[in-house]
Amino acid sequence: MEAKKQFGLHDLVEMKKPHPCGTNQWKIIRMGMDIRIKCEGCQHSVLIPRKTFEKKVKKIIAKAEE
Ligand SMILES: [Zn+2]
Repeated sequence: MEAKKQFGLHDLVEMKKPHPCGTNQWKIIRMGMDIRIKCEGCQHSVLIPRKTFEKKVKKIIAKAEE
């Protein structure tokens, strides 16, 4: 297993599956029990449970702030 991923608001992430629009860059726009991510390609956003997000996220592309 990979080390636990550290992610936070406004980070740019890559998911295991790209969005149907062909983009695989998402920005975290809401953190909580559910996490909302927005596709950087088409601006579509989805709300997913945190556990699901943790399973589906592939990597953090860029941290919003250090
Ligand atoms: Zn998209």
